[in-house]
Amino acid sequence: MRVVVQDDVCQGHTLCCMTAPEVFGLREDDGHSFVQISEFTPEQLEAAKRAALNCPEQAILVED
Ligand code: SF4
Repeated sequence: MRVVVQDDVCQGHTLCCMTAPEVFGLREDDGHSFVQISEFTPEQLEAAKRAALNCPEQAILVED
C-alpha cells in the first residue's frame, strides 16, 4: 500500500487534512500536503481514499 501526494500538483487546499487528519499534514514552508504516516489502519486507508477522491487537483495517489 502506498499513499502519495504529488507535490507539483498539490495546491494546498487543506481538504485532505480535514478528511484524513491522521494521514495528511501540511508543510509550513509551502503549505503543500504530505503523508505523515507509513503504516495505515483500515480506517486511515479508507480516509486516505476519501481524501484522494475529494482532492480538487487529484494530487493524491492511493496504490494497492
Ligand atoms: S486536497 Fe489535494 S490539493 Fe488540497 S492540500 Fe490536499 S493534496 Fe493538496
